Amino acid sequence: MAVDATQPYDDQNIFAKILRGEIPCRKVFEDEWVLAFHDINPQAVTHVLVIPKGAYVSWDDFSAKASDAEITGFVRAVGHVSRAAGLVAPGYRLLANTGLNSHQEVPHMHVHVLAGRQLGPLLARID
Ligand code: AMP
Repeated sequence: MAVDATQPYDDQNIFAKILRGEIPCRKVFEDEWVLAFHDINPQAVTHVLVIPKGAYVSWDDFSAKASDAEITGFVRAVGHVSRAAGLVAPGYRLLANTGLNSHQEVPHMHVHVLAGRQLGPLLARID
């Protein structure tokens, strides 16, 4: 079910449970600002999710309400995770589904890091 990005934060969402340690994840990186872990249903050879530790529903919520320190910490962490995985030379794609038309499924802000093969065009064409 796609997420309405205008809804209030639901602290029972699956990524909130991962952040609280109630559900396991395959951790890639963690610092003060983010947790990064492997997607449970990978869509590429490398498919890592980076999530802020703060309670934000979506990219929209995060970009509007997060502090400058949270935003800086998040952006730097996405860069660090991608570099540390050796993805800069071969290339990678960042994706942040936001709201209904994007088919966002988990209502906690996240960025997908996708890499490891040719990823093709950005979107399937739907006419
Ligand atoms: P989105 O459609 O952008 O909201 O993406 C949500 C992503 O979270 C999907 O790629 C799922 O495979 C992934 N996901 C859902 N549950 C888990 C979980 N428990 N651990 C890791 N990834 C998950």
